[in-house]
Amino acid sequence: DYGTLPEMIRGQADRNGDETFLIRAETGETFSYQEIDARSDEVAATLAERGVVAGDKVGVILPNSAALVVAICGVLKVGGVVVPTNPEYKTGEIAYVFEQSDSQLVITEESLRKTVEKAIDDIGVKALLTPEECEANANESRSTVPKREVRPVDTALLMFTSGTTGDPKSVALSHLNLLFRFDGGEMPRGYGVFYTVLPLFNIDGFITTLGTMYDGGQVLLRNGFSASSFWADVEQYDANITSVVPSVLAILLEREYPENRDVSSFERFVVSGSYVHEELVERFEEAFGINVMEIYGLTEAAGTAYESPEEVVVGSAGSPTLYAEAAILDEDTSEPLPPGELGEIVLRGPTVFKEYYNNPEATEEVLQGGWFHTEDIGYVDKEGRCYVKDRIKNIIIRGGQNIYPGEIEEAIHAHPAVEDVAVVGHEHEIYGEVPVAYVTIDEHTDEKALEKRIREDCTERFADFKIPEAVYILEEFPRGETGKILKERL
Ligand code: ATP
Repeated sequence: DYGTLPEMIRGQADRNGDETFLIRAETGETFSYQEIDARSDEVAATLAERGVVAGDKVGVILPNSAALVVAICGVLKVGGVVVPTNPEYKTGEIAYVFEQSDSQLVITEESLRKTVEKAIDDIGVKALLTPEECEANANESRSTVPKREVRPVDTALLMFTSGTTGDPKSVALSHLNLLFRFDGGEMPRGYGVFYTVLPLFNIDGFITTLGTMYDGGQVLLRNGFSASSFWADVEQYDANITSVVPSVLAILLEREYPENRDVSSFERFVVSGSYVHEELVERFEEAFGINVMEIYGLTEAAGTAYESPEEVVVGSAGSPTLYAEAAILDEDTSEPLPPGELGEIVLRGPTVFKEYYNNPEATEEVLQGGWFHTEDIGYVDKEGRCYVKDRIKNIIIRGGQNIYPGEIEEAIHAHPAVEDVAVVGHEHEIYGEVPVAYVTIDEHTDEKALEKRIREDCTERFADFKIPEAVYILEEFPRGETGKILKERL
């Protein structure tokens, strides 16, 4: 029904009126569709007064909150491009994002003002506004927000990847990319309350929030996952579904099932973002009796490209979403490979991003031959279901033999005392690289005995070249902003 995001925001406010759109988990405050619409009109009017014109980039650096959603909608309504950024970033990181994106203006809260001011000191950002300053145009209404020419193919969002494998890349997604993603995914559909804990400056948090608006549902928003509040939130707000990285399952497993709470509204965990260990999913489903659905996607495909809302096959990321086309291509011929053969996952369709902003070489490199090359390795079965093995970058090559870390991690994860695991390559004089394992474990475990068991178990399952040369026990893993393990730091 909609060609652009401002049309969607307004259209959904017309349809849903004073129905609740957003609930803030921290305070219980609710915000209706109409309220978000009216408040974002005020933001749009202020930005217009400040000279923001269609196509201008506007940085938004706020924690998950109603103010953040309102700011995003306001920027879109004035025809601007939203550049959402992590409020935990330090000066240098903030400067990188706003400089790379040519941001004209930044919206941030009072508590971050000093840091942001320092960051934007000499990079061409013209002004900094707080949400309160943006919304000071009380009584602004739709009719007074200046009309801006926005085309469906224009960029709506410049989203930086989380930088798990190097410097964050700035992914330009158009209004159409995002609307096709909202329309093509079944994930939030038919669910009343979507519990969003992932940050809106990453694709998953953004999609689950605005996608739920597109679906006319409700978002329960928390500023980050909290193990101690999770089940209480579910009970209090009758949440139905959430989307998380796999380590959240491991963290929840450490705690008891919430026997004393009524969490019967809760139907499903959606997991993605890094290798999803089958064993962990099985253990989790057994202990909690709640369905876990693995999906696969990335920022460049506007979030999800594979999902299977109905028939979940543990270990698989499901089938392509409605508008995504996916294949595994032969490296030499660029023809699709038969089912079961491993190769790079490539995607095409209307959700695939426009470009890396200001980086035509990088864009051209990943969009060769009309396909987006994901740099992830996987295979497709006879039914078309996708199995993601790992990032090509994570593959360990020991003396010419390929080792997929996910496979080894899976085996190590099978030990109940292991909380989380990462297998990485360490440099080696003779073999170039050898695999080593890092684990975090339950505190009551005998470390020596566990190491021995892990080694024995790997010896039983794998060829010698795949067996980790060492098992290191860590207090905790270095993690990126969505909770992914930063393998490069290990
Ligand atoms: P950067 O590109 O800067 O390193 P990032 O890759 O973490 O950051 P995202 O776009 O958020 O940025 O993450 C997408 C990546 O997450 C995919 O390329 C893939 O490697 C991984 N991923 C997503 N879903 C799955 C899955 N089901 N199984 C394995 N890996 C997954």
